[in-house]
Amino acid sequence: MDYRANILNAIGNTPLVKLNKITAGLPCPVYAKVEFFNPGNSIKDRMAVKMVEEAEKSGALKPGGTIIEGTSGNTGMGLAMAAIVKGYKCIFTTTDKQSQEKIDILRAMGAEVIVCPTNVEPEDPRSYYSVANRLAREIPNSVYVNQYDNLANRLAHYEQTGPEIWEQTGGAITHLVVASGTGGTISGTGKFLKEKNPDIQNWAVDSYGSLLKKYFDTGKVDMSEVYPYITEGIGEDFVPANYDMSVIDHFEKVTDKDGALMARRIAKEEGIFVGYSAGSALQGLMQLKDRLKPEDIVVVVFHDHGSRYVGKIYNDQWMVERGFLHVHTVRDVISTRR
Ligand code: PMP
Repeated sequence: MDYRANILNAIGNTPLVKLNKITAGLPCPVYAKVEFFNPGNSIKDRMAVKMVEEAEKSGALKPGGTIIEGTSGNTGMGLAMAAIVKGYKCIFTTTDKQSQEKIDILRAMGAEVIVCPTNVEPEDPRSYYSVANRLAREIPNSVYVNQYDNLANRLAHYEQTGPEIWEQTGGAITHLVVASGTGGTISGTGKFLKEKNPDIQNWAVDSYGSLLKKYFDTGKVDMSEVYPYITEGIGEDFVPANYDMSVIDHFEKVTDKDGALMARRIAKEEGIFVGYSAGSALQGLMQLKDRLKPEDIVVVVFHDHGSRYVGKIYNDQWMVERGFLHVHTVRDVISTRR
């Protein structure tokens, strides 16, 4: 018999896959760390389980307890899996910006999901942060895991994602490229790699409408950088505690349109059906390609799977409505207009 004792033991050891077409014009090879091979279809399985384990260790989470989180879906998927295997309840708060598919998936995994408005301040009692905090206070034996400030998030990547990439590249990696939200992936993975070789460049990719790059460049929280944007999973309107800016070498901003178009190219040209932020990450690298040399070895993290975005970036009509595609280039849209 060759099997895993439960689904949580199937997390990690995801493949590194060479990109062959989109990056063909670059001077060096580019490899994708394809994280949708995790059982919850995203990299967030790693940190979700780590946060639950740390809450158990500290005594914050006791048998039969409730896990509460504000999540855009991927962290929720990992937490829901961990909760089922370990015997906890889950309540998630999320925003109305998230795809309906993500919310339905969490409900299918037994979680209660509360949808909150996107365009309110974090301090507003209706925001998904505020609602999660209030529930954690009101519900006995519950823990608000808070992926933004819970350092078990970046620790999971320091212990798993970093060592895997180091091993898989035989220590030859020179550049890590990560689309960044809570900062857990870039900070944990980046720290491990810098400790192995301080010359490795860690490049974070941010979204327009987020203040992270400006904060990295100036050390100041500039709210004039913040406005609504469409890309899911990356960018923030505050600086989460998981950021270790000392291991990051550069922040690059990518537009909603360019990230979406690049995700579609990854699917069509590489045959890897990725989520939105994978498009942003690779687009960020392409914007920086003049910095690369022939001897470099680049690893780009592809955070999640395209199936969660079929009604969005993989829907031509949705792309046309946002001005990301022109109507005359889209056969399906033209045929529905006849
Ligand atoms: N892409 C997707 C799809 C995500 O769900 C997340 C998590 N917010 C990220 C990228 C960014 O990862 P991190 O939070 O570790 O910075």
